[in-house]
Amino acid sequence: MKNNIEIIDTVIYAGRLKDKKSLLYSSSGGAFVAISDAFLNNGDAVACAVYNYENYTTEFQLIESREERDKAIGSKYMQSRPEQIYKATEEWLKENPEKKLLFVGMGCQSDGFRKFSEIKGIRDRVYIVDIICHGSPSPKLWREYAKSIERKDGKITYLTFKDKRNGWKFPTAYVMVGGQEYSIRDYVKVFYNRCMLRPSCYECPYATTERKTDITIGDFWHIEETIPDFYDPNGNSLFLIHTNRGEELFEKIKNDLDYRLSNTTQCWQPNLEAPTKKSEQREEFWNDYQKKGIDFVMKKYGTVSMKTKIKNKLLKIMRGGVRTK
Ligand SMILES: Cc1cc2nc3c(=O)[nH]c(=O)nc-3n(C[C@H](O)[C@H](O)[C@H](O)COP(=O)(O)OP(=O)(O)OC[C@H]3O[C@@H](n4cnc5c(N)ncnc54)[C@H](O)[C@@H]3O)c2cc1C
Repeated sequence: MKNNIEIIDTVIYAGRLKDKKSLLYSSSGGAFVAISDAFLNNGDAVACAVYNYENYTTEFQLIESREERDKAIGSKYMQSRPEQIYKATEEWLKENPEKKLLFVGMGCQSDGFRKFSEIKGIRDRVYIVDIICHGSPSPKLWREYAKSIERKDGKITYLTFKDKRNGWKFPTAYVMVGGQEYSIRDYVKVFYNRCMLRPSCYECPYATTERKTDITIGDFWHIEETIPDFYDPNGNSLFLIHTNRGEELFEKIKNDLDYRLSNTTQCWQPNLEAPTKKSEQREEFWNDYQKKGIDFVMKKYGTVSMKTKIKNKLLKIMRGGVRTK
């Protein structure tokens, strides 16, 4: 169905929230908070992924308040489930004919939502943001990993993959169990060593700067080298604007940001050029997992090197206790 969206030559910005509290709470530079505020402050709605502590799953929800939105802040390193959000958003837009909707998801999810909105004739009423992605781990692995922690130590009440206590460049990953922090860096290590991503992630067609969403957001990696006078150790977001609607949206949020015009050379990172390469150990990893289970593979593939252990120990002494497996 025809709509009024025009694809433009991609415009690139580095940016971050002026509000330091929200910046520290966000994974990157708080692009998500800035963009979603523009909708929630106006009575519009946001569809995005929130972690559910009861079923260990990251699920899409339709959000209409900043309190609810705050629960969506932060990267969750597992494949999220968008299923019911399609029906929920379509119905919400029907019930609220004057209002607009923001959808935020990974590249594949947001492009899926774009196609859905075009088919349903609602593209003009939705703004679509996608997130740069290294790949999403199997949700089953996270579920088993979380359940294994709970069997030993009790209910997980909080989860973060990118706490910024040591700065944006050195994120700390932990869960809260029984009022104490419990490191999950073995899980994060396996995520980064490319063993547990879903098979389709190794062939991702969205690993490019040219996309059909309105805006792509991510980390502005290496900004300390490419735009050193604009680097903030507390976090930096990358904005890739792809459409006239994306430009219009960025205009609305500019006042909440410190920002700088940038380009593809400054913001380059591997997943803007090609999908993550499959690990040579992937088959061995899954065979081990099928035969010996989650605890075994986390120990075998998620063990941290002696050098990192010493660095973490020193940080622990300097900043207070973090329990490890
Ligand atoms: C699995 C994964 C891989 C990533 N890989 C890269 C990468 O290679 N390079 C890069 O630059 N950035 C990557 N990111 C994005 C980055 O970590 C930040 O999420 C992003 O920059 C937004 O940060 P923010 O400060 O704007 O907002 P934040 O508040 O930190 O981001 C929250 C937003 O991300 C959404 N979100 C979080 N987890 C998921 C999920 N599992 N599924 C769907 N939506 C989710 C939330 O719903 C919300 O909309 C990845 C994120 C994830 C979840």
